[in-house]
Formats: sequence, structure tokens, C-alpha cells
Amino acid sequence: MYGQMMQQPLLISTLLVHAERHHGEREIVSRRVEGDIHRYTYKDLAARSRRMAKALAALGVKTSDRVATLAWNGYRHMELYYAVSGAGAVLHTVNPRLHPSQIVYIADHAEDQVLFFDLTFLPLIQAVANSTKTIKAFVAMTDRAHMPAADVASKIPNLLCYEELIEAQDDHYEWPSFDENTASSLCYTSGTTGNPKGVLYSHRSTVLHAYAAALPDALNCSARDVILPVVPMFHVNAWSLPYVGCMTGAKLVYPGAGLDGKSLYELFESEGVTLSAGVPTVWQGLLGYVEANDLKFSTMKRTVIGGSACPPAMIRTFGERFGVHVLHAWGMTEMSPLGTACTFKPKHLTQTQEERYAVMAKQGRAIFGVDMKIVDANGKELPWGSETSGDLYVRGPWILSSYYRDEGGDPLVDGWFPTGDVARIDADGYMQITDRSKDVIKSGGEWIGSIDLENIAMAHPAVAMAACIAAKHPKWDERPLLVVMKKPGAEVTKEELLAFFEGKIAKWWTPDDVVFVDAIPLGATGKMQKNKLRDQFKDYNLPTA
Ligand code: AMP
Repeated sequence: MYGQMMQQPLLISTLLVHAERHHGEREIVSRRVEGDIHRYTYKDLAARSRRMAKALAALGVKTSDRVATLAWNGYRHMELYYAVSGAGAVLHTVNPRLHPSQIVYIADHAEDQVLFFDLTFLPLIQAVANSTKTIKAFVAMTDRAHMPAADVASKIPNLLCYEELIEAQDDHYEWPSFDENTASSLCYTSGTTGNPKGVLYSHRSTVLHAYAAALPDALNCSARDVILPVVPMFHVNAWSLPYVGCMTGAKLVYPGAGLDGKSLYELFESEGVTLSAGVPTVWQGLLGYVEANDLKFSTMKRTVIGGSACPPAMIRTFGERFGVHVLHAWGMTEMSPLGTACTFKPKHLTQTQEERYAVMAKQGRAIFGVDMKIVDANGKELPWGSETSGDLYVRGPWILSSYYRDEGGDPLVDGWFPTGDVARIDADGYMQITDRSKDVIKSGGEWIGSIDLENIAMAHPAVAMAACIAAKHPKWDERPLLVVMKKPGAEVTKEELLAFFEGKIAKWWTPDDVVFVDAIPLGATGKMQKNKLRDQFKDYNLPTA
């Protein structure tokens, strides 16, 4: 017997229709690449998205065609989120920090038909426009007055102007209805090894993920919030905040290209931001600026930090100095991206602050919809509540079943997706990432968690960033080598740093050596590129060798 409820597909366009009807006057504020602050409402967003959907049809974009963007977080990018997917095409958000050759590879692999870009990326467009195979039009996301000069424009095939496309249409448009399993957007993984692989989201997975992301024990978003997503819209749909915005009616504040501490801080204060989200490296810049200028956050209450492990020292600085609660979250492109969020259970409310900080350093509990387990090298499930870590596997309705165009074959193991992360899970179900499996340091057959070591090093006041990598050792195979970037003007010696580990970890986990570098390489999504460091130090002679 079937239930007797309405069959209504979960479609991305319904989020926009809801926002226009129930939160029409709520604002969306953007720092534009043109230099000014732009503000309008969800009502305006809905009308302009409908116009853009018509413009896409006029350009010949059909159901399931891929439409690419190279763009910052801003209102025009959000219009494309709804116009492209809402019309039944697939929004392909491309990471502009990739090398031009990778962008060409991705655009060809996705068979993108149209590419929309922010003016910042004009040089990138000039570099790739005549190499991509399928793109029929390039659209500059600006008005006529800011379009590239004629000599530049003439070298880009079929260069169009975003505002002219919008102006040529009216906003009478009915969003089409179709199967909720239709593809809605496409995002390529960072691909530290081999070519990047595409993850193809559906309307159903996206809407379910947005419901889950907004829950109180996830990102906890409501109509009362003012959300500033620092996490880019070109990286896993900005952790779904453009969808959560429409779902909840929260005011959205988009920082555009202004990701430095000063620009971000000004927007936080002028727009009354209550919630933000981003990777640890961005917050480092912001905290540096706020501390150096002796400033305070007057409205910000919470910030979501994920994408790489949030150093406990950062959680503490946010909490103790600024009264901002850090919500540590974990996920990946293949998971839309949210998997876990670290919020308290009732028992933690009566614990000491120190005990609570220890909980907050973990990546958190599974959000409903995500099932997770850890397994040993033979695939046997490991118990929760021990110090043993294992390979982390997940499954759920917003987790990929195969990569776009089946690249790399079947990624699943008995219906589970192996994340490539190594983690332990405590008795209360709080998961803690100890490593990426390829970053694990194997000393005498035992694993040393590099993230634990980095977290300790980054709590030292002189350390700006620290990466721990495996260095070759004749007796133990591998031993930890700590690579450190100091804070500007700060001094610390190798001996002082090694002494800093005493009493905080098992003695045999202590790094064998410390090297100081001017910079630690960061990848396109702001994560430390340990593979590059491993290359750089592959012949490093440890003093213990
Ligand atoms: P991406 O698909 O580029 O978002 O990268 C996903 C990977 O980032 C995960 O598999 C983890 O290795 C890492 N990651 C994401 N969030 C966290 C976190 N909170 N702590 C540690 N690693 C994280």
C-alpha cells in the first residue's frame, strides 16, 4: 500500500519561489567586482533569475546542457544558480584558482556550452577561450559600461554582456517541472592526484542536503540570520548556503573578491552578519586583521569552519577573545558537502569549558541522512569509543554513487563511499579526522596522525601555519617532519617547538625535526598541499636517521 500524499518533485526552483513569496523583501547584499556594494531583495533575485532562464533558452541552452561559471560569491552568480538549474540545465561551477590547462580540461570534459565569468577572470578567459572545444558563448557578468575594451573583446569568441542578456527579456516565466533526480549542478574535485573528477548533484540531493544543512544541529540557519558565505560558490555550492538562504529567508551577504581581513571585517560590521562559513586559512587572515587593529565583532555569533581541520587554538581565540562560537564541520565535494557538524549533546552543557573545547576540536556528529563507519585495512568495521582510527566510509542520499561520465570506475565498496579520510569515532558518535589516508605517517607500522601534530604546533604563539609530513627513516620507515611558517616578526627555535609537544602526545609521536619555510603551498580551495611539501622534502635527512 502506498501513502496517499502529493507527489511533488524536490526542485531547486521551488526554493526560489518560496523565498519570493515569503521573504520577498529580505536583502541580498554583494560586494561587486565593479567596486561598489550592491543590494537588492529576494524578490529581485527571483525576477532576474526568470529573465536569465529565458536568456539561456534564447542562447540555445537546453535541458541537461552544462553551463559554466568562473565567478566570486555575488548576486549574479546566485541568479545563475537558480536560472540554470531551475530551467533544467546543469550549473558547472569552475574553480578559478586552477591552472588554465586544468580549466580547459574540465570545460571540455563537462562539454560546457556557455561560460559566465566575473571581470576579475578576464585574463583567464583570454588564456582559455580559444582552446576550449564546446563553449559557444562567453558572458561577462557585468553591464555594458564595464565590458572589456574592443581589442580584448575581439579575441574572445562570441563575448556577451550579462546585463544586456537580462534586459532583453521580461520576467514572465514558469519554472518547468521534471523528475527530481535530474542533474542540477556539477563540481570537480580538487584532484591532487590525476585529473579532477566531476561530481554531479541532482535536484533531489541538493534540496535534501539544504534541509539538513539548515537544521539546528547542523548550520542552524533561520530567517533571523544574516549569513556571509566566505566559502566560495565555486567550491561545492558554497556549502549549500545559496540554497539555505532561499529556504530560510536569511539575509545573504556576498563578499565578492574581497576576501582579505579588512574587507571581510567591514562587511561583517556594516551588514550585521550573524553567521559565516569558510576554511581555516581565511579565518587566519581575518583574525590577524582584527587582532592587529584591536577590533571586536559586534553582531557575529557563530562561524562554521571546515574544509580542513580547524586548529583548536583558533576555536579558542574565536571563543575567548571574540565571543564567536566555532562550529567545526566536515564534508567533501562527493558529499554535497556536509557530513558531520560538531554541536553539543545535553551532557556537554554541564561540562567545564576545557572539556567542551576538547569536543569542539572534533569534526562532529553525523547529520541525519549521513551514515558513517570506520573500517580496518581488511574492510572490517571498527568499534566506536576506542582510540583506534580507521578508514572512514559514508553513505546517504546526497553522497555520490559514481563520478561524472563514470570516470575512475565504481567508487563504492558494498554500497559505501570510502572518503579517503582516516578517523576515530568516540562513544557518543563524534568523529575526529586524524589524517587523509595518503598523508598518514607510518612509523614502525603504527600510524601517527599528522593533524594532531599540526594542531599542537599551531597553538604555539609564534606559528602561523604548520604541516606535518612523513620523512624517510632507515629504521622506522617514516617519521614526522614538522614544516613551519612563522607569524610575521615572531621568533621560535626548533628546540622550543619540540619542547612544546611534551606532555601533549605520546613521546614517540614527537616530530623528529622542524624546518622553517617562508610559505606553505595552498591549493585551489585553501588547503595545505602536503603532496608538494613531500616532494620538496623527499630527500630530507632526518637528524635521527
Ligand atoms: P573537498 O572535496 O575539496 O571539499 O575536500 C574534502 C576533504 O577535505 C575531506 O575528505 C577531508 O580530507 C578534508 N576536510 C574537510 N573538512 C575537514 C575538517 N573539518 N577537518 C579535517 N579535514 C577536513
